[in-house]
Amino acid sequence: MARDNRIVALAFSVGLSSISTTVLAQSSQPTGPFDSTAPGNATDRLIADEGVHLKVSVCDHVHAGMAAIGLGEPIAATVYRRAGVVIDWTNGCEYDNPPDLQINLLPDRMTPRALRRLKVFGFAGSSQTVANVMWERIEEAAIERRMAAGYLLGYVIAHELGHLLLPPNAHRWSGLMQPDIDFHGVQLHDLWFSREQAALILRKVQSIADRRRDSIAVASN
Ligand SMILES: [Zn+2]
Repeated sequence: MARDNRIVALAFSVGLSSISTTVLAQSSQPTGPFDSTAPGNATDRLIADEGVHLKVSVCDHVHAGMAAIGLGEPIAATVYRRAGVVIDWTNGCEYDNPPDLQINLLPDRMTPRALRRLKVFGFAGSSQTVANVMWERIEEAAIERRMAAGYLLGYVIAHELGHLLLPPNAHRWSGLMQPDIDFHGVQLHDLWFSREQAALILRKVQSIADRRRDSIAVASN
């Protein structure tokens, strides 16, 4: 995890297509966070309705525990709810009946060699179905900053799910998809997808839900 906010070596998370990228953070005018109350928002109707459901399992390989996971899941769910997506969580490793997406909580020793130097909080690839979150680093950073590790976990999970649902190169200068996590935003509970990214995520989740419904229909025929 890079801790210098001026030069960020792709610390928060790595879209696998841009592992070696080094970026300058906060050097341009940030775009505002997604505001679901803004007029003319394309997702207003769906947000007002029930929302599109996304099934996500959290596989706790590192024994982070339900206390932390129980704090993190509602944080991530709130971020996605604002984009019109309702996350249905499963706690466990669903190998036989995989959900739409899965988060693996991993120990440091399972960091891929190519990512060790960057000390990332997580890594995921666009259009894949599994993202990986490094729990021990989250716990360490939370202790340093005197914040609840579960809250930080929630935002990391939300960020990594974003990589799974967004096109490649999903990092932005501000908001939830910054390459380096904004700890101040975590403390304020004020990290969101941009409006553009929220719309892309809603569209992607809708296609996942449609595919799931079609496969159930075929199976029952
Ligand atoms: Zn990332």
